[in-house]
Formats: sequence, structure tokens, C-alpha cells
Amino acid sequence: MSLTDSQMREDVRPLCQRHLTPMSLGKAGMQVPPIAPFVLAMYGCDQPGCPSAYHMRHDYFDLFLGEPMRRDQETKSMCPIHGFPAFMYIAEYDPEKAQRTWRCSVEDCATEKVEHLNSPPDGA
Ligand SMILES: [Zn+2]
Ligand SMILES: [Zn+2]
Repeated sequence: MSLTDSQMREDVRPLCQRHLTPMSLGKAGMQVPPIAPFVLAMYGCDQPGCPSAYHMRHDYFDLFLGEPMRRDQETKSMCPIHGFPAFMYIAEYDPEKAQRTWRCSVEDCATEKVEHLNSPPDGA
């Protein structure tokens, strides 16, 4: 299996990792030195001033116009079945339980990870 930019699914609705609100599909000019600038289809947060963006091959990252991509080190989450570069995305957020559900970005993959916020990192 290989993933290319053109194969990014457009039927998923990732949530912003900061706001936990739905992101919308868009395009942005990217600079990822040393490769030449390119245009990437990605999801971006709709909240004013929020730099959060998501792409299934690049994980969550911060988008600042004219600046190199900055990956969000906090949210690195890879599918245990598909591995790199199948990053997972936040599909659901339940504010009452303070938990967010991650899903694999590969079509038909059943991998799901429920993460309780404000709980110990080891889940104990
Ligand atoms: Zn946001
Ligand atoms: Zn997967």
C-alpha cells in the first residue's frame, strides 16, 4: 500500500486538535525544505487565527503562511496496523466524558483509539 497526496481521503472530517471543532478541506502552498514549494490539499481549522492543519500523510501541523511546516509533536498518532505515514485523526470529541476518539486515515481501517483527556498518559 502506498499513499500519495492525491489519495488523501476527502470524506473524513477531522477535528482541530486545539479547538475540537470540524476542520474544512482546503489547499495551501507549502514549503518543506529542501524540496520545492508545492500546493497541498489539507484540512484547516475554521477558527480565526488558528494555524492548525491536518493531512493524512503529515499528521497535525501548524500552518503559517510563508513558513516551513511545523508538525504538532503533541498529537503524533500513527495507526498500529498501517504505520507510517498513516496518521490518525481526531474524529469525535465528547465534552461530557472529556474524551476524544482517533481514527485511522486509511479507508476501511477499523483502528480506533479513545483518549481520555486529563488522565495519566499510561491510561492507568
Ligand atoms: Zn483550531
Ligand atoms: Zn489503519
